[in-house]
Formats: sequence, structure tokens, C-alpha cells
Amino acid sequence: MIRLYDILDAITGYNPNADCEPIKAAYRFADRSHQGQTRRSGEPYLVHPVEVAGILAQMRMDVPSIVAGILHDTVEDTVATLEEVEQLFGAEVRRLVDGVTKLGKIKFRTSEEKQAENFRKMIMAMAQDIRVILIKLADRLHNMRTLSYLAEPRRVDIAQETMDIYAPIANRLGIQQLKVELEDLAFRHIKPDVYQAIAEQVERERRERERFMEEVRTIVERKMHDVNITCEIKGRHKHLYSIYRKMEAQNIPFNEVHDLIAFRLIVSTLSQCYEALGVLHSLWKPVPGRFKDYIAMPKQNNYQSLHTTVVGPSGERCEFQIRTREMHDIAERWISAHWKYKEGRQIEDKDELKFKWVRQLLEWQRELNEPTEFLDTIKLDLFADDIYIFTPRGDLRELPRGSTPIDFAYEIHTDVGHSCVGARVNGKIVPIKNPLRSGDTVEILTGKVKRPNKDWMQFVRTSRAKAKIRQFLRQEERDQAEGIGRELLEKAGARYGWTANKLAKSDGMERYLQAHNYRDMPTLFVSIGYGKLSPEEVVVAVLPKEDLVEREPAKVSPIARMVQKITGRARPPVRISGISDMLVTFGKCCNPVPGDHIIGFVTRGRGVSIHVVDCPRILGSDPDRHVTVEWDTAAGVARVAKVKVTCVDRPGLLANMTEAITSIGVNITQATARTSSEQKAVNIFDLEIRDVTQLRHVIQSLEKVKGVIAVERLRT
Ligand code: MN
Repeated sequence: MIRLYDILDAITGYNPNADCEPIKAAYRFADRSHQGQTRRSGEPYLVHPVEVAGILAQMRMDVPSIVAGILHDTVEDTVATLEEVEQLFGAEVRRLVDGVTKLGKIKFRTSEEKQAENFRKMIMAMAQDIRVILIKLADRLHNMRTLSYLAEPRRVDIAQETMDIYAPIANRLGIQQLKVELEDLAFRHIKPDVYQAIAEQVERERRERERFMEEVRTIVERKMHDVNITCEIKGRHKHLYSIYRKMEAQNIPFNEVHDLIAFRLIVSTLSQCYEALGVLHSLWKPVPGRFKDYIAMPKQNNYQSLHTTVVGPSGERCEFQIRTREMHDIAERWISAHWKYKEGRQIEDKDELKFKWVRQLLEWQRELNEPTEFLDTIKLDLFADDIYIFTPRGDLRELPRGSTPIDFAYEIHTDVGHSCVGARVNGKIVPIKNPLRSGDTVEILTGKVKRPNKDWMQFVRTSRAKAKIRQFLRQEERDQAEGIGRELLEKAGARYGWTANKLAKSDGMERYLQAHNYRDMPTLFVSIGYGKLSPEEVVVAVLPKEDLVEREPAKVSPIARMVQKITGRARPPVRISGISDMLVTFGKCCNPVPGDHIIGFVTRGRGVSIHVVDCPRILGSDPDRHVTVEWDTAAGVARVAKVKVTCVDRPGLLANMTEAITSIGVNITQATARTSSEQKAVNIFDLEIRDVTQLRHVIQSLEKVKGVIAVERLRT
């Protein structure tokens, strides 16, 4: 059990100017507050906060964090109040204690949505003051160390939560030691049998392995000494959970897991890292594909090291990590290695950079609306491994494993992402959904049109790309709704001789917007466009009574139409590009394809449905809900059209027809054939076509096939 004085010693060790009085005062305060309380283990409660403070001291945290660590359970579990804490220890400590208390109330193992919301709160807390999370992590670590005293099922719940949330966060923050211990402790309670089995195996061969470690150490030390590299070498056993993960991932039994031992070489200078690597590789054969240069390419959390695996003496694989003392300090306690020990001073600007990740999270969170969306986004970032991609100029970008050229494009710039049409990877053109591999050089090809494809959502991996695509699509949908709304209001107003412009400028409209909480006209248009609000209702409410007399609907004069054409004002509200099929559906009754003359019908709440102008369904519908639409030729979206072919019934004809279709470059998605009376056959083809022109070509080509009697396009 750690004592107060051990903690004070540790603190003055790394922070000689630390004022330890508040820590002693906090100890007395906590002692008094927790008086009479015990933990499940039977120990006095005070043991817990003191252990937590000890862990924080090990992490080299500042004095306020350690004070807050000692006090972290007083407000929640005793009669002490936040006001008292502030009075005695100041506003900063109060904030930290309050943060930790609130964080403690977040339960992650609830329904998915709630979980997402809670996770969001956690991220918020983290962004406000990262120390809150670090104190919480220390608290969780000590609770995990004493978890055995807790009863099921709470025990397993806490272990699972630790595995799912806290260990990944520790990993992301680069606090390796903490991550490793949390994982092993959680593993032990989540899968006790497997844990026991692996632990026993490891124990059985421990002696032997330690002898082996000693052997490797001696050899390496001697060799390094020969070339004048002073180094410190340490062997360690792989942690149990990582052994288990390896067994699971590769589906192998324990005795086939080879690199159970890892060595760490700490040298004096950066160039010695590479020299030492050379020495190792001359001693033992390196395992191909296992060398990683995290010095030239540091991880996102600033981790630096050289990693390599060699086939050591007696054929055993050993992993080596080579780094300088400074890199080691950062790896072991990333956050605190950058801590500034000047009382009352905030983290400096350059350290702010290191919290880039947290700030990014916040940014995305603002862009995304749904809490579950947010959780998906975060999970992705917490758990994915990273790959490294080069720009054509040789700059390096870090992306999660499985990222595609699209992800990379968005990483460069949002506009590059939006206008990406292809990619050259290592000089070769590849499909934009192909996953990239570490070390690839990627050049993004962009087109003139800035518009992401909805399908990209299926394969992009980075949260950034997802958020940007979603944002764009949402905005586009909104723009469309706005155009539709404007046109509908225009029509409703025309019946009383009012234009939408005149309506917008009227006093009545000003009153209407205010009374119904619309920020401005565009918001009102959007509401009408989505079918949430009837344009007739608006007109009736806005117009002065004397004007509420219906007139003949004003026809747009040919001159007005020409003016519109020249000024470009009457741009159709809906352009069919196949992107926003949330808002646009195609009528099943007439199945329009690009090139057909079409018209849109605004449904209530289900967006616009597109029909051919002479579709009987559209002819019988309310003309006030019609909107102008046009095909977006730039989008190049394929549609399926049905073609019916009547022909004589003879063998081989089907093959001839198929050839007639595919020779034009048209895909057949489905074909049915049946024989009718009089030796005739009827074939129906579903064809993937670009537009009506292409469809016409197919029909002509089919008509030329010998034996074909009639070809016609089917509407349904
Ligand atoms: Mn606690």
C-alpha cells in the first residue's frame, strides 16, 4: 500500500518546486470525509484515493491533478460539497473533481443511443480539460486492480467497459503502460478461463524464457559495446491479452505464438537508433515485413521508435523496439512528458497541437447530428490501425487501415474530396474504392464537378470523409428543398396575382415568419419543400384580405420565359443526379430514363417523385404540386429500362439478341423468355442504360436481328 510520503517524494522528484501543502491538506480532508467508510476489500476507504494519487504521481501529473485525485470521491460519496472543495483548494481543483464525478456517472453499457450520447459527454469532458480523463483513468486502474472483490454481474460489466472504452482511450493518448495493464485486468474478468490457461502456460515457461532473455541481452550488449553504442536493454514478456488476440486473429494455439518476448533498446542519440538496428540485423536475420520506422513517421500520438522482429538465437522470434531516452519518456507517459510545471499556468500553445485529436472529435461532433452517427465515427478512429500514405510531393499522411483514395482525397482538402474522380496509386490508375496500403504514393485525379457520390459512404473509412460527404449531401438536399419550396409558393401566390418576391417583401410575411419562428425566407422555403408546410396556408395567412380573390393562374409569357433563360434565374429546383435518392424517387408507373421528358411531383414528406410528362399518373395529379426537373447529364447515372422483344421461336435466337445488346456496351441485368402460341417467343430484358439515345440504339440493333418481329420499350 502506498503512503502519502511516497507520493510526495515522487512529486518532488520530477517537480522540485512543487508546493506539497495542498496535497497534505487534501489528504487530511479526504481522511475526515471518508471516516468510517470501507471498501469491499475491507480496507479503509482512504486507501483508494491515495492509490489513485500514487498512480497520478507515477504519470508525473501536476499538483492540482493529484489533489483532485485524492478528493475525487469525496463529493460523490460523503457529505463534503463542491463549495467546500473550492473554498479549501481553489476553483481549478473544484473543476477537476466535478469533472471526474460527472464522468463517473456516465454508464457506457446502456442502450446504444444512450451509450453514444454518453460517449459524447466523455469527449466533451476530455476536450475541456484532459486531466479529468487522466484522473478518471487512474481511478479506473485502481478499481480494476481491486475488481475481484466485486460481485457478478457488475464485475464483468466494469471489465467490459474498461476494455471497450478506457483501454482504447489510454492507447489513443499514448499511455502504453496504462493501456496494457487495463487490458490484462479486464481480460482476466471477461474471459477468466482463457486468461487462466494462457497465464499458466506463460508461467510454466517463464524460467526458460528468462534465461533466453538474459542470453539475448548479453549478446546484444557486447555487440553494441564493440561499436561504441551505450545502450540499455530490457526484455519483457508480451502481455497476456496481446497473446490472446494473436491466437484469435491467426487462429493458432498458444505454442504457435512465437514472439512472446519483446526487447527494448534505449540508446543516446537518434542516429544510434539506426546504427543499433543495423547491428541487430547483422546479428540475426530480420523477419520480412516487420520493420517499422516510427521515427521518420511518428504515430499520431507522437510515439517514436524503430520496430523490428528478428529470428534470434535458437530460432526464436524476438521483437525489438529501439528508441532514445526522450522518445521512451514520451512513449511511456505521453501527456505528462509534455506537462509544464509552472504553477497556475495553462498548457502552452505548442502542446495544444498534441490535443489535435480531441479537437477534431469536437469539430466532427458539431457537424454530425445523430448521437449514433457520432459513436460510429469515434469508434472508427479509436480502434482502427493506421497506415501511412505519401502525397506525390512526398508528404506523409496517416490514415486508418482500409482507407481508400477517397479518404485520402478528403484528408488533403474537402474540395479535393468532393471533386475526386479517380486516383493513381504508385503510378497506376485504380478504382477509388480500393483500400490503400502503407507506403503507397497516391495522386488524386479531380474533375470539374464538386459533388461527392452517396455510394462513397459505403466504403470510406475516415471520420473526416464520412462527415464531409454527409454534410454535403445534407446541404444539397436542403438546397433542393429550398428550390422546390420557392416554386410551390410562387404557384400558390400566382393564383392571387402575387409573386413569391412580392410575398417575401410584404409586411404580412414578416409577421408570419416571426409568429412561426422561421429565421428567414429560405428556411420557410425548405419547410414547404419538405412538405411540412402547405404553400396555400402560407399565402392565405400572409395576403391582405382584399387580395384573397382567386384569379386565373397567370401563365408565364414566352418573353418572361426567355428572360428566365438568359438570366438563368429559373434553374430547375431538382436536378436528377442519383445522389439524393432520399428526396427523389422514380415513378414505378412510367420508369423514366435519362433523356425522357420528365416532371416532378412533390409528395407530402416523401420528396419528389419523377415521371415522364405524359405518364397517366402525372396527368391526373394536382398541377400545383408539379415542379420542373431536368436530368443532370454530368452525373452519368445508369438506369434500368425494360425492353420487350417478340420473335419467332427458334434455337440460338436468344444468343443472337444478347449479342446485339452487349455489342453496344449495354449490360443485361435480367432476362425472361417464354414461348407463346403460334411458334412465337416473348423476351423481356432489363437493361442498364445511360440514356434514351442508347436505348434507341439497342432497340434498332435488336430489330436488325433475323427472326425478331417487334421490339418495344416497356414502361412498367
Ligand atoms: Mn474512485
